[in-house]
Parts: sequence; structure tokens; C-alpha cells
Amino acid sequence: MSSTAPLRSDGAAAMAAVAPVVAVHAALDEAVGDARARYADGRPESERLHAEASASLPGGNTRSVLFFHPFPFRVRRGWDCHLEDVDGHVYVDLLGEYTAGLYGHSNPAIRAAIERTLADGISFGAHNTYEGRLAAEVCRRFPSMDLVRFTNSGTEANLMAVSLARIATGRSKLAVFEGAYHGGLLSFAHGGSPVNAPYEVVVGTYNDVGGAHRLLAEHGRELAAVLVEPMLGSGGCIPAEPAFLQMLRDQTTAQGTVLVFDEVMTSRLSPGGAQALYGIAPDLTTLGKYFGGGLSFGAFGGRRDLMARFDPSQPGALGHAGTFNNNVLSMAAGLAGLSEVLTPDAVVALNRRGDRLRDSLAASFRRAAAPLSATGIGSLVGIHGTPGPVRTPADAERGDDRLLELLFLDLLDRGWYVARRGFIALSLAVTDDLVEGFVATVDEVLAARSSLWR
Ligand code: PLP
Repeated sequence: MSSTAPLRSDGAAAMAAVAPVVAVHAALDEAVGDARARYADGRPESERLHAEASASLPGGNTRSVLFFHPFPFRVRRGWDCHLEDVDGHVYVDLLGEYTAGLYGHSNPAIRAAIERTLADGISFGAHNTYEGRLAAEVCRRFPSMDLVRFTNSGTEANLMAVSLARIATGRSKLAVFEGAYHGGLLSFAHGGSPVNAPYEVVVGTYNDVGGAHRLLAEHGRELAAVLVEPMLGSGGCIPAEPAFLQMLRDQTTAQGTVLVFDEVMTSRLSPGGAQALYGIAPDLTTLGKYFGGGLSFGAFGGRRDLMARFDPSQPGALGHAGTFNNNVLSMAAGLAGLSEVLTPDAVVALNRRGDRLRDSLAASFRRAAAPLSATGIGSLVGIHGTPGPVRTPADAERGDDRLLELLFLDLLDRGWYVARRGFIALSLAVTDDLVEGFVATVDEVLAARSSLWR
């Protein structure tokens, strides 16, 4: 099978040569089955703990994205960019806690900040000395954020931003894009999740400038907010085309709609986030993940006239509650990360390394004639089970998920951890040598599996 004919169960390529394609599909199913069995055989303690946890957690799981078949491994400890599971396997961690682990598992500055803070006690039920300084650092890095408020997660930050937009505009509707992930209650892959918050939502196609323009025009003055990731993160590391984001900025300004950039993942892509890369200032920005130094965190902020409505010294102020909004460990670790570790130079170097990784992966896929592609920006990489191009979630959907599962299991087998869906988020602990070692391993895996597509 040529590299221009991805493995799939429908479409022109499949119709062209039915018998060989059926054979290839069967071979791929068998390869995945064998890889799962090999994975399970090597991890009896993880399997035992998974069964034990399943007695009180549905499916042994309390965070859906972490599940994969036959059962996920359980981690005993982590350091730098390494993880050791309970069966003694050591992995190089290229997943970087889905971007929250930017500092790695044991950064000395983060650890020292947590230990110092811990020595002074936990959970004061009062203001602490870190939150104001962390807020100042966030606003300094993101000039579109005049004021900011902290939350416990990115999900909460997005819910607060959307609620603020609805109150400020007096409108009810929210525009989002197919494939976007803004948190467990704001998830828009495959037409939306049944557990989503019950907002009145209109859904556009990412990177479809004309279609999204029409959608915004149609709902016009009923739209409170447009909520958009400058690069679809969970949706496959699909960067926004500049004209798409610019159209959203122009239309929302014209219509008096609040433009919210969800930068929970993308804030790491330049010293001023994706908004600085694109040169487009939103009205509100949401943050999360690594900003708490690897501890739980979220934030929303932006235009002073919007955010000032939360000023509790003013009559009629909006409430924004949350016992752990200013939890002292996240505040201190976040501040240490931004002020001692994540300098603008460090951000730029991290993203250059990611660009080199993505280019090298693309070259590996070409060399092996593998029906795979790599997307993303800087330190965030998405691997797809299709040769691409991938510029919308629908393009990514055309890929063969079994190829991603096989790649995932083959990489684990060789000691490399990426997300099951083919996602990589480099941490600062990943060196150039490790990146090269990873690409060499990908070459090895593809050579061993090439009969599946050649
Ligand atoms: N927004 C984006 C773009 C995300 O990727 C995520 C999490 O992956 C969230 C929001 C939700 O953040 P949290 O998991 O902290 O609730």
C-alpha cells in the first residue's frame, strides 16, 4: 500500500484493491492484538492494581483520558522526564502531563518552592503573599490581560470566562468549533459531549473562514462569546490559520461579542502565548496546566472593564468562589516557575526543539512511506494515522486509529511514553539527545512494521 493510500475502511483507496486491503486490515488488527498481549504480559502488577481500583473507581479510572486498552500502567515515581511504573519499566516521558508537566517531574526550583511553602503551612483560608505576585507576572506576559483571577482548573476558567461574557453582553449563546476541547464540561469533539454544561451553543468548523463568518453573522447579536483555541490541542494539534483567527477577531469586535482565547495549552508556545505568535489580542484569555508549576491551576483574565466586575469592594460585584483558587502551593510553585525557570529564552528554546522534533518525525514518516503525519506548533506535536494534510478535525478523523495504537504500544515497549492518541508535549527536561533517540526509535518501529502499509 502506498503512502498516499492510508489504511481505512471506506473510500476510494479501499475500493481500488479490496482483497489486499482486507488482508492488510486483518494484519493490522492482529498486530494490535499481539502488541496488547505483550504489553499486558509485561505488567502484572499494573493489571492487579487496575483490577483492585476497578472495585471503587468506574473502570479503575478517575480521569478518562488516561485510560487505554487493555489497562493503563500505574506509575510508582517520576523524575526529570522519566517515569517508572510499578512493574519496573522506565519510560522517557514525552507526554509531559498533557502540557501541565512543562517543568518535568522534579525541577529543583519548583521543588524548593513547594518545600519552602509547605514548611509554612497549608490552606490558610486567607490571602497569601504569592497570589498577587503570580497575577502580576501573568499580566506582564500577556498584555491583553489587564486583570486575572485564578481557578482550580482550565475547565473552571473557561466556564467562568463564558459566564462573564454572558453577563457582560446580556446575551446567551456561545460559539465554539468542532473538535475543540475546553474542559470536561465544554468538549466539542464528535458533535459534543452529553456531560457538557447546558449552554446554548453553535458549533462551527475550525479553520473554515467563510463558514465561521456566516455562522457568526447568522447568530450575530445573540452571541455572548466565541471560545476558541488558537491551536486545537486535544483535537490533534491543528494550528489555526491566521486568517481564521483574524476573522474571528474582526467579527466579534463588530458584533460586540466577547472573543475568548483558550490558551490552557497554547500559552507555552511563545513568551506571550499563541496570541503573541499570531499578533491578535482576545478580550479574555484562559490559562491552566503548567502555570501552577505542575500543581492544579487555572486562570481567566483580560479586559479591565470585564474583569473589574469581580472587584468585591464594589457594590453589585460578581461573585467568583473557589476554596482552592489561591491555594498556596500552586501559587508559590507557579510563581517560582515563571520567575526562576521559564524565561522567555527558555520558552523559545523549548519550542525550537519541538519544531525540530516535528520536522524529524515528518522525515521519518516519509522515509518509511508510512501513512502518518505530524502537526502542531513548537513543543506540542500531534501524530495522525493519515499522511495528511491535516488542517481540520475531519482530516484527522480520516486517519487509522489502529496505527496510532500500534505506534503507542511499540514505543512503550521500547521505553518511550507519548499519549495514546499520538500527542507529545515536550517538557524542559527533554534534551536534544533524547529527541534524537526518540526519532531513531520511531525509525526502528516503522521499519519493523512497514509490511503493514508497503
Ligand atoms: N482547555 C484546553 C485547551 C485544554 O487542553 C484543557 C485540558 O486539557 C482544558 C481547557 C481543561 O483544563 P483542566 O483539565 O485543567 O480542567
